[in-house]
Amino acid sequence: MKIRTRFAPSPTGFLHIGGARTALYSWLFARRYQGSFILRIEDTDVKRLSSNSINSIIDGLNWLGITWDEGPFFQTKKLSYYCGIIQSMIFSGQAYKCYCSKERLKNVRESQMSQNKKPKYDGKCRKNKTSYKNNQPYVVRFRNPLKGSVIVKDEIRGKIIFQNKELDDLIIQREDGTPTYNFCVVIDDQDMNITHVIRGEDHINNTPRQINIMNALGFSIPSYAHLSLIVDKEGKKISKRNNLVDVMEYNRKGYLPEALVNYMLRLGWSNGNREIFSIEEVKKIFSFKDISVSSSKFDIEKLSWYNRFYIKKISVVQLSTLLKQQFLIMHVDINFGPDLKKLVELLRCRFNTIKDMADSCKIFYKKNIIFKDSYKEYVYLNTSTIVSYFYKKIKLIKKWDLESISLILKSVVVKFKVNFKELGVPLRIILIGKDSFFSVNTIIYLLGKSIVLLRIEEGLDWINKIN
Ligand code: GLU
Repeated sequence: MKIRTRFAPSPTGFLHIGGARTALYSWLFARRYQGSFILRIEDTDVKRLSSNSINSIIDGLNWLGITWDEGPFFQTKKLSYYCGIIQSMIFSGQAYKCYCSKERLKNVRESQMSQNKKPKYDGKCRKNKTSYKNNQPYVVRFRNPLKGSVIVKDEIRGKIIFQNKELDDLIIQREDGTPTYNFCVVIDDQDMNITHVIRGEDHINNTPRQINIMNALGFSIPSYAHLSLIVDKEGKKISKRNNLVDVMEYNRKGYLPEALVNYMLRLGWSNGNREIFSIEEVKKIFSFKDISVSSSKFDIEKLSWYNRFYIKKISVVQLSTLLKQQFLIMHVDINFGPDLKKLVELLRCRFNTIKDMADSCKIFYKKNIIFKDSYKEYVYLNTSTIVSYFYKKIKLIKKWDLESISLILKSVVVKFKVNFKELGVPLRIILIGKDSFFSVNTIIYLLGKSIVLLRIEEGLDWINKIN
């Protein structure tokens, strides 16, 4: 049997971490067994659709490297096909038209609840087999079996038994004539030969209802794996309303897809105590038995830890390209300033995200330094003398490397018997217009000799003017 899995998002918002993890696990499971992974957009609930959602889902999956073999398929393209099946189910008695008003249903629900009963459709229209009223609004309900039970053999949580008497007669077609999620999912999983349905545990209660429809239509039942929820630090379900869960927001904030994928993988799946996995490796070992039954806590610190790891791990060329893109977004012109590759090599270990890196490093690409009045506090009495001496020395330097630059800095400090700060602080102000956390020799090395000499000349002019 060829394994076929699918990711079937409803396009009601951006691709969120929970959905992306479901897609990741479904994709990995298909890859593990050389199967196919299908993307299906479940867009029949027109009222809940959000316009940019499909792009956000596709962009998110592409960015994460989760590639589908078939699709994207859109359920709205098949509406008349689903409705045709519903018609034949009405005809055969497997489904029936329900004319109950919203008000009646509300009253039934309230009365059941007041008697401490589980609210469910009372079956008023179930008795009608063929006598249907013309020109009256109706929904179509599936005639769920009244007796017996449904056993869901979940790959992660084992057997789950549902009693049919607890299940509702599900609405499979709305009043406006559109088919509902629970119906379309059954038809598509069958038509697309899905062997394993991998989805969030919020769908567990839908599974027995879907199985009953499958049985009624004589379909084969796929295997199910329901993934536990991802919760926040307080243990509450992370939701689409919280933009910390928007996958593309991590792209914008400068996280690497490798980091997010590795983090999401470990958010519910483990293999010993290891944290770092290459995706190629996981494609060979991924299995349901290693998926946790309990919920997983989303922890941004942990994600940043992964990001730091992958920022150090990816190639200098790759990281430079990403940093360049980030600078472009920020309108930072990198033509005047350090070579990006050198900068990346030297500073990559210091940052959690590409965005942090770009935010901190943009000071290296200033066209010139505008000396503000507030900078005066960084200038000491002897600054002009010391910096002039440093200027002469650095002008004669033979080799432009960190070590040679450090030796010159040290020699100046020794000669004038000053604290390093008395040279370092004014030099930072003169070179990058900020007393930043970068070491002075790194700043000098990265800016390069010609910019350094030019900036010191301009800086000395300014100091001599204010003195
Ligand atoms: N469309 C459903 C959702 O976005 C998922 C359906 C399924 O995986 O069966 O929650």
